[in-house]
Amino acid sequence: MSGRTFEWSNGAVEYELRCDRCGDAFRCGDDSFYSWPVLCAAAEAEGWTTSPDLDGEHECTGCAAASARWELVAAMAA
Ligand SMILES: [Zn+2]
Repeated sequence: MSGRTFEWSNGAVEYELRCDRCGDAFRCGDDSFYSWPVLCAAAEAEGWTTSPDLDGEHECTGCAAASARWELVAAMAA
């Protein structure tokens, strides 16, 4: 639920990627926000967990690391 699109009156579409957990927005240093797959790839390169779907689950670097720790804890407890 964290992907958002902005449509400008000139027809340009921009995408915004937000973390589902902390609400942080991914900031890309280039024009990746013109394409959702490119934006996801750029975010994943920085450690984000993204979904190919705009409505999928997305986590920033910090939250993805935290949830990875939780999965490890759960795996060790099982
Ligand atoms: Zn986050």
